[in-house]
Amino acid sequence: MAEDILKIFDIAPSQSGVSTGQHWLAAHGEAITSVSPVDNKEIATVKTATREDYDQVVAVAQEAFKVWRTWPAPKRGEVVRQIGEALRANKEHLGKLVSYEMGKSLQEGYGEVQEMIDICDLAVGLSRQLHGLTMHSERPGHRMYEQWHPLGITAIISAFNFPVAVWSWNSMLAWVCGNVCIWKPSEKTPVTALACQHIVAKVFAANHVPEGVCCLITGGRDAGEWMAHDKRIPLVSATGSTRMGKAVGAAVGERLGRSLLELGGNNAIIISADADLDMSLIGAVFGAVGTAGQRCTSTRRLIIHESVYDSFVAKLAKAYAQLRIGNPLDQHNHVGPLIDKAAVNAYLDSIEQIKQQGGSFVVEGGVLSGPGYESGCYVKPCIAAVENTYDIVQHETFAPILYVMKYQTLDQAIAMQNDVPQGLSSAIMTLNLREAEQFLSNAGSDCGIANVNIGTSGAEIGGAFGGEKETGGGRESGSDAWKAYMRRQTNTINYSTSLPLAQGIKFDF
Ligand code: NAD
Repeated sequence: MAEDILKIFDIAPSQSGVSTGQHWLAAHGEAITSVSPVDNKEIATVKTATREDYDQVVAVAQEAFKVWRTWPAPKRGEVVRQIGEALRANKEHLGKLVSYEMGKSLQEGYGEVQEMIDICDLAVGLSRQLHGLTMHSERPGHRMYEQWHPLGITAIISAFNFPVAVWSWNSMLAWVCGNVCIWKPSEKTPVTALACQHIVAKVFAANHVPEGVCCLITGGRDAGEWMAHDKRIPLVSATGSTRMGKAVGAAVGERLGRSLLELGGNNAIIISADADLDMSLIGAVFGAVGTAGQRCTSTRRLIIHESVYDSFVAKLAKAYAQLRIGNPLDQHNHVGPLIDKAAVNAYLDSIEQIKQQGGSFVVEGGVLSGPGYESGCYVKPCIAAVENTYDIVQHETFAPILYVMKYQTLDQAIAMQNDVPQGLSSAIMTLNLREAEQFLSNAGSDCGIANVNIGTSGAEIGGAFGGEKETGGGRESGSDAWKAYMRRQTNTINYSTSLPLAQGIKFDF
């Protein structure tokens, strides 16, 4: 399967992972071999960038910015519209490659490409709506207004679990805003990044977009660190673990650059005594086991009212018994593999810690073996009864481990939901208007995303996406998230015949 898809995207079994658009540079760094967690087969080998290769790319990007920023925004939008069309044409193949390289279900692979298409559509509209305000000047014969200008190079550091969508959320907006991009994808999913680069390169060539607007640097942590410390890069948008975000935020902050951080979550659903329990079950199970628990918005905690706790946990256990775990390209399966053996070890380690800290398992976990599970990356989704205060519960384990806990009053449930270091996504399942409004109020959820009668997992691109506290505070995608990719300039024009000074100051000579 892999060979056919590689051919479609012009990817050689061993190729450079460094590009400035249509050109692939000679890469002098070490080679990364991408291995599928689905069946443990090698997909391709990608040569990474050295610091010198990286510097060459930055130089090309800097020159490209001087040209790209002068293109009218709607003309840049037209190019992004064509990328959306190219993604539509490639949806099936790219979706399959995402599923095979990352391990998410085929439907989720297609869904990820659909999100890329949707953000292209949003960005096209945005290219005609990069509005600034007009203010009334306090001085006669003066006009004051603000405008938004591009920043320069946007560096995009992305995580393995959304190997292509996160790049598109950033790059499509950054491009219509007039920036050029350098993308460093996860070292665990470099091949999907090569495929995206090939798709964009064709569209850019047809539109005579200068070389350097769409750059790719493959590599590991080092490459991300070069970007974080690089004064030539005004904005670093980084998606990944809180550990990574703290390092990137500190490096970019030290040089007073801008960072947009999208980090880990520890998302909870409150299930009230007034919840529709059938709907709650669907939201909770999909949220916890979808993408094998490897979404930043995965449901990690269920805070359940004591009056429905026993019956709901019994329903959960019954649903878990029906889950089919296996090859994610087989649409009959619900749960695919974890990304690699290191992730399996982190899952096993968390299970040990849950036991040591006093938790008990409602549904036991474990690693699957035997035919179909040869990669060693398939694990059983499990459920543990715990206290919110356990150290392990306060951490994000990127695996299908669901914590259940009881509450008595809504105040208590909201306090538990908020009492973790992360602040990404949250939800309440209730048919009670007072409960829903309290949860959404300024004394309710402290997360960037708060839902009613929808789970925590997934989000529409029309809203601003991101979270508070250790989730990093960044916002991407819809609403006015585009402002992060631009600099605001306030302009005052004097069309009178005198020069009145602000604050009534007289300066006669
Ligand atoms: P990770 O932090 O290990 O790696 C993410 C990216 O950062 C990779 O490209 C990696 O090479 C790079 N990197 C690592 N250390 C770095 C450093 N010190 N400086 C610069 N770059 C560095 O994360 P992962 O395992 O790929 O992804 C899982 C994590 O991502 C989870 O915590 C998940 O919640 C989070 N995530 C968050 C969002 C969001 O929007 N909030 C979306 C997807 C994933």
